[in-house]
Amino acid sequence: MSSPIPPPSGEGPPRHRLLRLLEPLRRDRAGKVLYGHLEAILARQEAWCLEVQEAYAALTGLLLERWAQALPEGSPQRLHLRLLQARLQPPLDPDEVAGLRRLLEAHAGELARAGAQALEEALRPLLAELEGGGVPAAPTEAASPRAAANTPAEGGGGPAPGPEEQRVDLRYRRHLDEKRLGIQRIQRILAEQITHCRRNSEAFAATLREGLARLRRSDAEEEAARARLIAEMERLLEAQERLNAQLEDAGSQLQVIEADSRRLTEELARIHLLSLTDELTGLPNRRAFLRRLQEEVGRVQRYGHPLSLALLDLDGFKAVNDRHGHAAGDEVLRTYAAQVLAVFRHHDMVARYGGEEFAVLLPNTHTEGAARALAKVQKRAAETTFEHGGRPLPLPTFSAGLALYRPGESPEAFIERADRALYRAKRLGRNRVELAEEEPRRERPVEATAAAGRASA
Ligand code: GH3
Ligand code: MG
Ligand code: MG
Repeated sequence: MSSPIPPPSGEGPPRHRLLRLLEPLRRDRAGKVLYGHLEAILARQEAWCLEVQEAYAALTGLLLERWAQALPEGSPQRLHLRLLQARLQPPLDPDEVAGLRRLLEAHAGELARAGAQALEEALRPLLAELEGGGVPAAPTEAASPRAAANTPAEGGGGPAPGPEEQRVDLRYRRHLDEKRLGIQRIQRILAEQITHCRRNSEAFAATLREGLARLRRSDAEEEAARARLIAEMERLLEAQERLNAQLEDAGSQLQVIEADSRRLTEELARIHLLSLTDELTGLPNRRAFLRRLQEEVGRVQRYGHPLSLALLDLDGFKAVNDRHGHAAGDEVLRTYAAQVLAVFRHHDMVARYGGEEFAVLLPNTHTEGAARALAKVQKRAAETTFEHGGRPLPLPTFSAGLALYRPGESPEAFIERADRALYRAKRLGRNRVELAEEEPRRERPVEATAAAGRASA
């Protein structure tokens, strides 16, 4: 069977190319029958191949679609995949399939990184099958008598195929079975993917169930926690109510304390007002003096004892303050109280009557005795100095008004007479003692003037 074999044109479907190669068979009758069988087989195989290719292309398209969706919108790679999807129409061009494989290999790393390993695993065998089966090689082999001879004799269907025809058919069926196995492999991979997804889903569901259970548990816990919280809050509320009560109690106590404090402040002010001692000098103050005067007047009115009253006012005291300062003035007052007025007997009452005024009450003393005492005081004042700025300064002199109590006279009138005498002493030149008139209107100087007082001490 040496017949010229027309060169393959490379044009048209593989079946046509094969049939062109088998053209010489048609020269005789037996050859024509064989040719017809082969043509039918090839047509059937081509249809089957196309069917398989369509199935593969559909699967590959789906996988590519999934891959493309995983890529950023508008990315060149995604565009490339879209173009491949569009061109992935059976019958498949081997070059297209090879291009797809190259693309897959180029992006295998990315696919793996993207967690799309299963996708890659699914695509790889598909592409292998497409590449391998894109061009049906089996008929070529089947066309070879050697290949046909090597094919084990197997029973098969077919429209009354001859033994050789059966062998060729079986060969193709085995080839197609391999492809079926490939598809099964893909199915298995897909099934695995689905299983994986289901497992994931189950895991997710389990997670959900767990989460739900946890939520339920947490609900329960929350309930318990809420109960605890409520209990805590109730305790807190109780504590707060107790605290409020305590605060209220404390508030009322505070009000009591405030009232007490106010009363105390008022009392202190009253006590201050009622105070009988002068803070600066330590002498009895005006109030103490007036109280004592009241008592002595009462006593005098009962027993008729003489009672003298002297009012002393420092001369030019303002000048001391002005020249040496207020502290020096204070020191003068203290010195007078402690050293100068100490001349009076202890049963005499010496009091600070006002600013730089002193009042002396001399029970059982007539004006003569009082005048002598005043003269001694004048002398003592002249001899005494007060410390200021580390040096001794002379004390200022004083003027005095002296009065003897008149029976029936009020304390105020008694003081007024003494005060008039003092005023006169000032008017007459200071540093002197004036004796009050027995009547309020009539004033007369005492025998002992300031100078005489000093002398008669
Ligand atoms: P006169 O000779 O007319 O009495 O003159 P004076 O300066 O003594 O009397 P005046 O009434 O002009 O001034 C009294 C001064 O005494 C005014 C007042 O500031 C001062 N003074 C009153 N009390 C105190 C005090 O406790 N300490 C001091 N340092 N000065 C006082
Ligand atoms: Mg005065
Ligand atoms: Mg004075």
